[in-house]
Amino acid sequence: MHDHQRPSEPGNPESNMSDNLEIAVIGAGTMGNGIAHVFAVGGYRVTMVDVVEEALQRALATISANMDRQIKKGGLAPAEKEAALARIETERDLAASSGADLVIEAATENRDLKFEIFRQLDESAKRDAILATNTSSISITEIAAQTTRPERVVGMHFMNPVPVMKLVEVIRGLGTSDETTNLVTEVAQGLGKTVATVEDYPGFVSNRVLMPMINEAVFCLMEGVADRESIDTVMKLGMNHPLGPLALADLIGLDTCLAIMEVLHQGLGDGKYRPCPLLRKYVAAGKLGRKSGEGFYSYS
Ligand code: NAD
Repeated sequence: MHDHQRPSEPGNPESNMSDNLEIAVIGAGTMGNGIAHVFAVGGYRVTMVDVVEEALQRALATISANMDRQIKKGGLAPAEKEAALARIETERDLAASSGADLVIEAATENRDLKFEIFRQLDESAKRDAILATNTSSISITEIAAQTTRPERVVGMHFMNPVPVMKLVEVIRGLGTSDETTNLVTEVAQGLGKTVATVEDYPGFVSNRVLMPMINEAVFCLMEGVADRESIDTVMKLGMNHPLGPLALADLIGLDTCLAIMEVLHQGLGDGKYRPCPLLRKYVAAGKLGRKSGEGFYSYS
């Protein structure tokens, strides 16, 4: 448990049931390092676990660089950086999370992998530990069914980049208890986040609404309703979106967009969620967006 004071942040209650929790974050990629970052700055001790040593080292470097950025913007006192970094431990073995009260899984988006991680966590974690997942699209209820504690399994869907984005979508599986929902809500609010609580249906709310919009933008492009710049300009300037849907799809990754549309289509069984054939074609061609250098736009 901590031996230090939690910094006072907006929305951080003085003393409550979420104080003194030990945190473990499974997966040290894009989301895992951001989640470890915000918890460490929030005063929690964090064990960050990844099977790849290089991912752990990269995560620590990313966290340090992102904290420097926060310091420059006045969002973090320089003295707090070293203290926050000192609260993060890195481990290769999932069993290292056995002391945690709240485990947040942010490993690769793969169903079988997550099922296996939750089976192992159920064995190794404390009996009363809460097991949360940051999944974007896999059913919380199905993940919970891999464990003997479905009442303590919950979705904690952080947004990218985690230190910047305010929202945490808290997703209740069929068996998630009110106590678990309340605790993770309080913890997230203590980190200065705003929580929206949603039930476990395909895509939750975030991707249920976002992805069909992106998919529809790709239909507009395929049908020649407008060119890519015009589609993005309408949504940027007309709807006040910071990015147009095609540019946003490139940022998210077209393969990820397609995978989430498949989840919506299969899970809800409604033709209105069918992935646009042009989206499939881009993914088949390896045009995945920014990460491959080309998607709807070129990034060379
Ligand atoms: P990522 O590929 O950047 O990182 C995943 C990490 O998990 C890798 O470092 C990998 O080595 C590690 N990993 C794989 N198997 C592991 C295991 N058995 N134990 C421990 N670590 C393991 O992925 P990401 O973008 O950070 O996504 C992580 C999760 O967050 C996914 O479920 C994704 O759907 C979700 N998510 C992503 C975003 C986003 O914008 N990237 C937003 C919200 C939610």
